[in-house]
This record gives sequence, C-alpha cells and structure tokens, in this order.
Amino acid sequence: MAYVAFIGLGNMGGPMAANLVKAGHSVSGFDLSEASLAAAAQTGVKTFATLTEAVSGAQTVITMLPKGEHVVAVWEKLAGLVPAGTLQIDCSTVDVESARRVHGIARAAGCPSLDAPVSGGTGGAAAGTLTFMAGGSPEAFADARPFLEVMGKKIVHCGADGAGQAAKICNNMILGISMIAVSEAFALGERLGLSHQALFDVASASSGQCWSLTSYCPVPGPVPSSPANNAYKPGFAVALMLKDLLLSQDVAEACGATTPLGAAAARLYEAFAKEGNGDRDFSAIIDMLRG
Ligand code: NAD
Repeated sequence: MAYVAFIGLGNMGGPMAANLVKAGHSVSGFDLSEASLAAAAQTGVKTFATLTEAVSGAQTVITMLPKGEHVVAVWEKLAGLVPAGTLQIDCSTVDVESARRVHGIARAAGCPSLDAPVSGGTGGAAAGTLTFMAGGSPEAFADARPFLEVMGKKIVHCGADGAGQAAKICNNMILGISMIAVSEAFALGERLGLSHQALFDVASASSGQCWSLTSYCPVPGPVPSSPANNAYKPGFAVALMLKDLLLSQDVAEACGATTPLGAAAARLYEAFAKEGNGDRDFSAIIDMLRG
C-alpha cells in the first residue's frame, strides 16, 4: 500500500484514482471542481480543499489535467510542497516542451518524474485497461510501473523526458485522421444506398479495419458501445481532439516534419468546433462530413 496524491479528478482522473483505491492504495485527491471532488469521494478517494493538504505525506503524486499550462502551474507549486524523492507522474496530454519543462522542475527539486500520457478513453480509465506511453529515466519508469499497471494494461517506456508525449501526439494524429477516413466512407456508403451494418461487416474484416471503425464506429448500430449510440456524448470530446491535432501541428512545424493529412484533420476539427460542437464526441464529425 502506498500513499498517492491524485490531482485532476475529471473524466479520466476520477476513474483512474478509483482504480488505485481498489488496488488498496491510500489515495488523496484535489480538483478545482466541486463536482469532480464529490464524485471522487464516492469512490473512496480522500478529497481535500487545497493542493497543499492533498499532497501532504504522499510518496507519489499523479496529475491528470487539461493542458500544459495547468501541469506547469501545478508542478511549480509541487516543487515547494513535496520532499525530495517524491515520485511525480503526469498522465495529461500536453505539448512536448511543457513535458520537458516539468521534468526539469522536478529534477531541480530532487524528485524522479515521468510523463505518462494515456490512450483508451474514459472506458479504458474505468476498466483499468489504458495504454500508458512513458518518458523519463529507467529508474522513474521502474518506480512508476506498479501504479501504471493498476490503471492500465499496456505500459510502454518510449524513451527520455517527453518521449511519452511525443508518442501520444503521433498516436492521436493517426486517430484524428482515421476517424475522418471512416466517417467519409460511411457518408459515401449512405449516398450509395449501403447499410451501415453491411459496410461495417466488410471493412472490419478487410483492409479498411482500424480502431475508429471497430471500437468507435461513428454511426449507431455496429458497435453498441460507441458514442454514436449515445447521441455523441463524449467519450473523447471534439475540443480535446482538436487540442491534440494542434499539438501535432505545432511540433511538426518546429521539427520540420511534413504532415499534410494531420494538417487537414486539424482544419476539419477546427471548423467543426467553431460550429459549436466542441463538447460532442469527436466521432460526431461525420455530421459535418455528410454535408
Ligand atoms: P476533464 O476536463 O474531465 O478533467 C480535468 C480536471 O482537471 C477537471 O476536473 C478540472 O477541474 C481539473 N483541474 C484543472 N486545473 C486544475 C488545477 N490547477 N488543480 C486541480 N485540478 C484542476 O479532462 P479529462 O477528459 O479527464 O482529460 C484530462 C487529460 O487527459 C487531458 O490532457 C486529455 O487530453 C487527456 N486524455 C483524455 C482522454 C478522454 O477520453 N477524455 C483520453 C486520453 C487522454
């Protein structure tokens, strides 16, 4: 049993912290949102009204926050709050530069650190089947592994500081592009009089097979658990997909990589978000692609 502080108890952090409790750890939690705190308390997380109280006595601190600016702000505070040697893990999806910056803040405070973003969505967070992609020293990775194994099924050490975020951004660029590809195919199939189920049965057993089709199908019916069956309630919101695609485009420009489909996907999600769809699941982009 370890003392873990969990900061950011939202759609992902809430169920991840709950799984640490289920595994027998003592978990204290902090979030700016009263609703997130109340939901976490229901799962056995000891919730606190301040960051300072939540991290007091913790051997490990995990953050799961919206963006790089939030992670930097919290980790800067942590440097003055936790003793040297406290393991710090950030599971948020942020830009590589912010990830490297917070590793530097932790190192200066004498704390081992890991960037460990996740894939698998809220379903994977609840089921404890997330994929973790980690960046940091082999020692920090070894220390973090027992916690990551409680919250996830596949744990990959991708390399040094920031390598987890680099892998996450590349993965989500594939996801953004592939969801558009699958949605375009269903929209075309509809025009051609093809049933959703017929196209699914063929493509899921053919070379069009991909996660966006078989686990997260953007039309209702073929995959009963997909958000299309639930009025496109997220799941993974359009605003978060746009955030990740813009991160991929920023970093591509910075390192001189050519990503024409990533750029097109970012433009399409930007247009869809501007039409007031930021809070819908990202698979709802099929509505815009139907024209
Ligand atoms: P969320 O908005 O549901 O949760 C974020 C939580 O952080 C909120 O409850 C918010 O109140 C809290 N917060 C913000 N600033 C804070 C601060 N300074 N101190 C304490 N709490 C603070 O978002 P989410 O869906 O849980 O996503 C979290 C991260 O995980 C994001 O970086 C996202 O890109 C990534 N992610 C999300 C999914 C998904 O399917 N939702 C999948 C993979 C990765």
